[in-house]
Amino acid sequence: MPELPEVQAHCERLTEQFAGRVLQRFVPFNFTALKTAVPRPEDASGCPLVEVGRRGKYLLLRFEPVTFVVHLMQGGRLLVDDKQAAKPRNGQARFVFTEGPALLLTEAGKERRAGVWCIRTADGIDVPPLDRLGPEALSFDAESLQRSFVAHNMRLHGFLRDQHHIAGLGRMLANEVCHRAKVSPFAMTGKLGLEGAASVLQAIRDAVDDGLAYERTRSDMSSSADRPGAVHGRVGEACPVCGDTIRSVSYSGYTVAYCPACQTGGKVLADNTTSKFLK
Ligand SMILES: [Zn+2]
Repeated sequence: MPELPEVQAHCERLTEQFAGRVLQRFVPFNFTALKTAVPRPEDASGCPLVEVGRRGKYLLLRFEPVTFVVHLMQGGRLLVDDKQAAKPRNGQARFVFTEGPALLLTEAGKERRAGVWCIRTADGIDVPPLDRLGPEALSFDAESLQRSFVAHNMRLHGFLRDQHHIAGLGRMLANEVCHRAKVSPFAMTGKLGLEGAASVLQAIRDAVDDGLAYERTRSDMSSSADRPGAVHGRVGEACPVCGDTIRSVSYSGYTVAYCPACQTGGKVLADNTTSKFLK
């Protein structure tokens, strides 16, 4: 799933290419693509795109009357669409401009979870579906992060992925942040203290900076295998910091990857999925 750096760099690219272009029409290709009934997307027709902004992992295509809020979920992409085929592969919706290429929202797979919400630009962005998001990952200071850690005492990896507590991070950055901070992904947030919060915060900033620096070199959005990282997707490889073997704990939808020597005092954590087979 694209996370903060990928979405942010993509918003910057799209603003550069599309700001000022006049929307001709918004075309959903199925009933699930547009998640809202009011305001109508037609209200933006004839208006220039002001910018493509971001909140959490959402892209915000801002026109004067209406902002289109786009979430890519797992397999969605918002692509520059030169061809404008009648039935585009995996097509969910299209933004057609009066001249130049369109923007095509695609989603691979059958889940149909990516989508577009229309909100009134004048209402600001603290409205559904954005109103349930926690503060932006980069907006915390050590004190506010520690307060949130104490208020939501839970495993650090789960906290970092929870968009209601901190917006913009996903599975990859949660793995990378825990590794950079040298904290177990299963450490309880309430026990990290101010010092722990400060080191997690620094790890978030560094991981996002590295991700952004890489992503800004690209002309399109990366997949997670391309992104710079030390532990995510590197199970069985040597930790670039200490040389120990990267281990993992697997869940149905995702894998928590960590370095025992760097993060858990050398302890290898039980893998729920594998240990079942070992019994
Ligand atoms: Zn290590």
